[in-house]
Amino acid sequence: MPVTTLALTAELPELGGSLSWSQLEAWAVAMREELPAAALAAALEELQDRLIDRVCGRKWLPVRELPAPFGCPGCGVMSDFERKGKRTRLRKFSTAAGVVEIRLANVGCRSCRRVFAPLLLLLDLSGKRRTDRLMVELAELATQMSFARAGAVAASFGLPGSAGRAHAAVADLAPLLDGVGRPDVPGAPAGAQVVIFDGTGMRAGRRRLGVNGNIALGVTGRGGPRRRRRATTTLLGLTVGQPWSAMADQLRDLRPPAMVVVDGELAITTLAQTLWPDVPIQRCWWHLPRALRWALYADKAPAAWANTRRTELTDLLHRVARERLTHAQALAAYDAFTASVTAEGHHAAGELLAGARDQVFTCLRPELRARLAHLGGPELGSGVLERVMRELNARTDIGGSRWSIEGLRDLLTVKLAQMTDHPAWTTLTQSLRPPNAIAFNIKTLNFNAA
Ligand SMILES: [Zn+2]
Repeated sequence: MPVTTLALTAELPELGGSLSWSQLEAWAVAMREELPAAALAAALEELQDRLIDRVCGRKWLPVRELPAPFGCPGCGVMSDFERKGKRTRLRKFSTAAGVVEIRLANVGCRSCRRVFAPLLLLLDLSGKRRTDRLMVELAELATQMSFARAGAVAASFGLPGSAGRAHAAVADLAPLLDGVGRPDVPGAPAGAQVVIFDGTGMRAGRRRLGVNGNIALGVTGRGGPRRRRRATTTLLGLTVGQPWSAMADQLRDLRPPAMVVVDGELAITTLAQTLWPDVPIQRCWWHLPRALRWALYADKAPAAWANTRRTELTDLLHRVARERLTHAQALAAYDAFTASVTAEGHHAAGELLAGARDQVFTCLRPELRARLAHLGGPELGSGVLERVMRELNARTDIGGSRWSIEGLRDLLTVKLAQMTDHPAWTTLTQSLRPPNAIAFNIKTLNFNAA
């Protein structure tokens, strides 16, 4: 294979003079920012020169009818091109290695007279000012921090980054994550054994209270050390600023799960029952005591008494798990607790507990336990999704800024696809970040040997 050599020269002052370590380090950091793009530009120009020689013959010695590895964009022929010189203006690309500037060489098609730059054609860069990999790098940073910060961090490593570029990267990447919320796309998740629903309020749109970001997450496995086991999850549905019923389109074609976890919101339960009428529903153990406290507030129960009931319910649920009560034993304990609340005439709380009764101990059903044993048993709550939600809120709350609904949806799409290793994300990033296959080595000239 032909070898390309790039020379690097530096004007280094002598040691013992004013040269400090910080200056040397500053020089090295400046090279980190400029060298990769400079090397890439030089390599591209060399590749381009070789290509033109091959396709048109050597300079001053044109050869007719030579075959080319590209087709003319005008007429499609794949041979007989002539040199048309180099463009005077440098072409700039923003890449993940910095801004690359090259002088493009043109060729002319002898059959249709079209003039074009074959380098752009062969590298699939026609019309591009920013590479897809840079888009992914900027967007990935922007899922962790504000756009301004993402741009600044990228810039500090020599990447063309700014708040605007980071913002644009997220907006451009989100639509490429084909298959998020679309099970019909080949390779998209086809379902999960446990599906958890939850929503969170976010500062977006014109309404003062913001909009809901609603998420359906599938639990597909559990791994890691024994006491710190983490669920592996898959993103199944995402809506922003839409009612829960709008998510049905994203979920309808999924394989029905073994179990669904809901927080008690009626619209979510309705969605789950509409989609999968035969799938058992688990009421989240974390949300239920919280909802009880709100119901007792509505019932105007004394605050201290209401807090005690809430703690009692939490303890009851913990005891059910700790003492491995059967479904019947757990229900008996629950009914006794409910009676202690309704005996005081608390209507809203009584309704809440009665409404949740059939769903609280779904996780204790033996057939479900058996089916979900490989996941470490059925989920007792939406904790897995709560953690995801907290991370989303931490990103979207930065600076107290208000999002547009589209902007928020784009960010959540990218962030969730990345957090859950959605196949659409994995496929895209693997194609844009392949392992390097071009060998290179850095030579130190040995003067003594000369
Ligand atoms: Zn042509």
